[in-house]
Amino acid sequence: LNNRFLAEQNFTAVTLDGEHISLLLNAGLELNTQQNSAHICDGVGLYRTEAWFMQKGQFPSQSEQETWYREVLNSYYPNPVVMRTLDIGGDKVLDYFNITEENPFLGWRGIRISLDHPELFLDQLKAMLKANIGLGNLKIMLPMISGTEEVDESLALFEQAYFELNEQYPEQTIERPDIGIMLEVPSSVFMLADWSKKVDFCSVGSNDLTQYLLAVDRSNARVAELFNPYHPAVLRVLNNVARECQQYELPFSLCGELGGDPEGAILLIAMGYRRLSMNLSSLNKVKWVLRRLHVSEMEALLKECLAQSSAKQVLRLTRSFMIEHE
Ligand code: PEP
Ligand code: MG
Repeated sequence: LNNRFLAEQNFTAVTLDGEHISLLLNAGLELNTQQNSAHICDGVGLYRTEAWFMQKGQFPSQSEQETWYREVLNSYYPNPVVMRTLDIGGDKVLDYFNITEENPFLGWRGIRISLDHPELFLDQLKAMLKANIGLGNLKIMLPMISGTEEVDESLALFEQAYFELNEQYPEQTIERPDIGIMLEVPSSVFMLADWSKKVDFCSVGSNDLTQYLLAVDRSNARVAELFNPYHPAVLRVLNNVARECQQYELPFSLCGELGGDPEGAILLIAMGYRRLSMNLSSLNKVKWVLRRLHVSEMEALLKECLAQSSAKQVLRLTRSFMIEHE
């Protein structure tokens, strides 16, 4: 099936009415695909750094991290690479860092661990900043942000890392990368007015946002049928995020699985998302679909979908739309 979309590599992602959509890559989990994927995407919208930490037998040193981050930044240069700081906990565990909890998805996860272990966080931030010297295509993203203190403490630690590196390497020009947050905890989507002044961008993590909005464990097969990002509540939240980010002039994107699903991508573009980050296997397929549609058609579909009261009804509409436009 993927061969059918292979020719898409040669085209830019632009709709029939001329809207350019940035298609970015979710990377990190498959460690070796970087080099050959750079030319078919507009950069990396989510680099999951934890995947590499999970393969190691211990926390990697700052210089080890620097070498590795530099290789990634180089592979996609001059396109941006959004590196996410360590997002362990939940379903992602390190053999050498024991976390035992009854409710891991509601426990010690993502930024919470980084803020409780500033030495690890500072090491990672410094490694990223050093790797970016002479390149400048790094952006940093913070996972699992749920409150203002986490934003403020993370930014303060970033300032510390930046200051200390400048002291240590006075002859080097260390660039200040954009710093953004993931919107994946429901509280975060109600805080955009406050945080838009503090951060440079945000990216919706629709996997976790769906999990937490619907109270459905994303990795529990028994309730898998309830885990559905096409639930009207999820769609309405995603739509509200787009409206608010536009209002507060905060650059926004989405990097959950929904963006790599052609039907999801169509709805998101209709909402106003112009940056979608997805797995390599989805890129050409999504491009194929959006190059054959007008945004106005997508908007008409979205309007209908937002008025439905169940995921089943939404999916019935999106499927017949896809068939009509085959
Ligand atoms: C998400 O939660 O949607 C996301 C992109 O991050 P992860 O899947 O790594 O938790
Ligand atoms: Mg997540």
